[in-house]
Amino acid sequence: MAVIALEGMKFFAHHGVYEEERILGGEYLVDVYIVADTGAAAAEDDLNKTVNYELIHTICDIEMGKASDLIENVLERIMMRIKENVNIIQQLTVKVTKLNPPLGGTVASASIESAFNFTTRCGRCNKGMVCYGDTSCWCNDFRIVHPRTTELVAEEHGSCVCPQCLDYYAG
Ligand SMILES: [Zn+2]
Ligand SMILES: [Zn+2]
Repeated sequence: MAVIALEGMKFFAHHGVYEEERILGGEYLVDVYIVADTGAAAAEDDLNKTVNYELIHTICDIEMGKASDLIENVLERIMMRIKENVNIIQQLTVKVTKLNPPLGGTVASASIESAFNFTTRCGRCNKGMVCYGDTSCWCNDFRIVHPRTTELVAEEHGSCVCPQCLDYYAG
């Protein structure tokens, strides 16, 4: 298990409910902390089995580029995108900070942070596993799992099952 951190990623963006924020834009910082099992990646020196820093930065860049009224919405989009693209996350924390918000006085920053723990147990064999519990989960990826299989598993177990147990349904 390892904590992967990307701190102080700086972006210029146009979020906000005020016209001046939308037109002039402002500076933002994004911090991402990912707790993941990177054992396989470390042993095999394989980038595909860990978290690709460049990918995380690209996701933040793309989502920051879409103007929202609220930074809550930006935060939500960044979290969803990271989950969709990385399937080994045990805990995910994302913080979005707006520098010098237009609040009348001198305010250095305003920020919002959200954290989730995705560790759970397989509904069939009770083994520890990661499930995001929504459509961003690997178990909802129709390229890996047939939609009918996902339905069947949900009917029988009321929750997601681990990849090994999923093989039992697929095979
Ligand atoms: Zn299982
Ligand atoms: Zn799942």
